[in-house]
Amino acid sequence: MRHPPRSNATISFWALAALAAIAPRVEAREAARRVADYRPVFLECHGPSGETRLAIRRMRLDGERIALTVDPATLETSLEPESAWRCLETTEEAQQETRFMRALRPRPGAPDEPRLVASGRSLSISAGLGHGAGAGSYLTGDLCPSRRPLDRDFLRSLADVAPGAPLALSVSGLWLERHGADFDWLMSEAASGSLRIAWVGHSYSHPYAPRLADAQNYLLRPGVDLDAEILRVEKLLIERGATPSAFFRFPGLVADARLMEKLRRRHLIALGADAWLVLSPAPRDGSIVLVHPNGNEPAGLRLFSRLLEQGRLPLPFRRIEEAPE
Ligand SMILES: [Zn+2]
Repeated sequence: MRHPPRSNATISFWALAALAAIAPRVEAREAARRVADYRPVFLECHGPSGETRLAIRRMRLDGERIALTVDPATLETSLEPESAWRCLETTEEAQQETRFMRALRPRPGAPDEPRLVASGRSLSISAGLGHGAGAGSYLTGDLCPSRRPLDRDFLRSLADVAPGAPLALSVSGLWLERHGADFDWLMSEAASGSLRIAWVGHSYSHPYAPRLADAQNYLLRPGVDLDAEILRVEKLLIERGATPSAFFRFPGLVADARLMEKLRRRHLIALGADAWLVLSPAPRDGSIVLVHPNGNEPAGLRLFSRLLEQGRLPLPFRRIEEAPE
């Protein structure tokens, strides 16, 4: 199974009517910030205290010129006002010794590298970084489009067992647009410190057609515009108050060499997984664990809880920024 089945649940007329009644208010709160002129850049920026960051996007946020920057050593991202920073064009060559550029470089021979399939195309079915550095494990959750609500109970119990646990959530744009209240709840959990969330892009539309082979599915569907898929979800995250991380997870973990290269040129680290719990052996030290808290894969959440109870998940949970060497 490459992808969990979708829900065919129907929503009653009255539930829809109730949703419609509250929609305008929710919409007003969600779209609290306006992003315009959102575009990729690659700049070296120097801050007011002498710090150095690399800007990978530039935008107008509520009219102010803002850069999405990456710390080239810690891989932390932040939104910075360009008025307080001095930014100049740079090149990948000039930055090649930084940890960030090393994390972006393909790792020849790594098991997650695209391999050649019969059609002559290179295909990776665990596209990107599949295993992290050091001890402990890296917990990631994918929010693929879903008709079901976010599994808040799962996240609450995680926060009870491991308060402040780092968690990388891969967000698809369609999930975000349809789950505004769930997203706001996640933001409030992050603000209160219950969970430490890194926001990972998971494409805007997350194409998926049941029964199609991986090589023709997901972002390998004809006509997919990877740039639009990447930038649109980042913009949505920023408009709703979040800061995108420097990571991107391919839907289905599927990509080919062309998509991997295009992603690298947008300066995003492809995030794979070696422990998609419903498909893989139990996690070990350094594992990148994948569950789906979007309501579509309850079996994975149960497995996670059982492994945690039995002490079979390598601890501590680590921040995804620590995963690349
Ligand atoms: Zn997905």
